[in-house]
Amino acid sequence: MLRAALDDIPTYKPGKPAAAPVPGGPVAYKLSSNENPYPPLPGVMEAAVAAASGFNRYPDATCAGLMAEISERFGVPVSHLATGTGSVGVAQQLVQATAGPGDEVMYAWRSFEAYPIITRISGATPVQVPLTDGDVHDLDAMAEAITDRTRLIFVCNPNNPTGTVVRRAELERFLDRVPSGVLVVLDEAYREFIRDSDVPDGIELYRDRPNVCVLRTFSKAYGLAGLRVGFAIAHEPVATALRKTALPFCVSQLAQDAAVASLRAEDELLGRVGSLVCERTRVYEGLVAQGWTVPETQANFVWLRLGEATVAFAEACDEAGVVVRPFPGEGVRVTIGESEGNDIFLRVAESFRKERF
Ligand SMILES: *Cc1c(COP(=O)(O)O)cnc(C)c1O
Repeated sequence: MLRAALDDIPTYKPGKPAAAPVPGGPVAYKLSSNENPYPPLPGVMEAAVAAASGFNRYPDATCAGLMAEISERFGVPVSHLATGTGSVGVAQQLVQATAGPGDEVMYAWRSFEAYPIITRISGATPVQVPLTDGDVHDLDAMAEAITDRTRLIFVCNPNNPTGTVVRRAELERFLDRVPSGVLVVLDEAYREFIRDSDVPDGIELYRDRPNVCVLRTFSKAYGLAGLRVGFAIAHEPVATALRKTALPFCVSQLAQDAAVASLRAEDELLGRVGSLVCERTRVYEGLVAQGWTVPETQANFVWLRLGEATVAFAEACDEAGVVVRPFPGEGVRVTIGESEGNDIFLRVAESFRKERF
């Protein structure tokens, strides 16, 4: 009854929620899903509440208002845009539009956990190219792994869960090597957190490359993870394919209106991102001072390669009141959150290091 392609699909493990506060006990901080810790901005909240009064009606199926806003903000034609239920939703549409049984979808590993899931759902074969020893995309190895069955390549920049980036020269060299019939998807879910000017903006790269598609989301910096809205920027054939593979009415009016309001409140939102970037520096430097080797991160999280100690570390964090994201046997990804939560994480890291290493 069920397709064999489903047999090998790992189920997506969401970041654990923070434990319900025990009266008198410590507040728990959720540092497990790379969310923005700030509550919605006032204007965004009002737009969402206003939209809620109309939820007996279907949303605007074309997302016209949001598309117009994105088009203006990013300087791209509306015909190059497609929205979806989070950028994961758009990523799934991209795989469905390009790859089926017998085709290959390539990505670095470890990278974003949704890639193997959406690849297998399509019936395509995942090709996972290991990160370098420094936990960075190995673009040369990826270029060499391209076959005549490769249909789509994800480049997650910065990479989830390591936070590492690929820079302009190496990314351009890679794009030059990819055949024009292979779609390269630059997943830039954490774009707004990048402070390294050598990391290219995918929107510059896509303009004269018809086989490059950029994925962005409102879930991270813009703080709308719960509303499920993301978008793709790509040349017309790809953008049109995304409109064909979209489920009708998949982005709610609440999400559309809140996303428009977020773009209009961008200065304030990006100011908050600036504070998170300061916290990121503080956490990173704190860990390095404690003696940890941490890959340089350009995202709103840090990666600690803990190997066999991963689960024990995550448990120690749990007990102290911060929930992190363990990848058993490999490491933990810890979101930069409220400074109180970051402090607790740093304290756990310090004592764990003293006890265990
Ligand atoms: C969080 C994340 C996304 C965005 O997910 P949404 O579906 O937009 O919430 C996409 N790609 C990566 C690598 C992510 O970490």
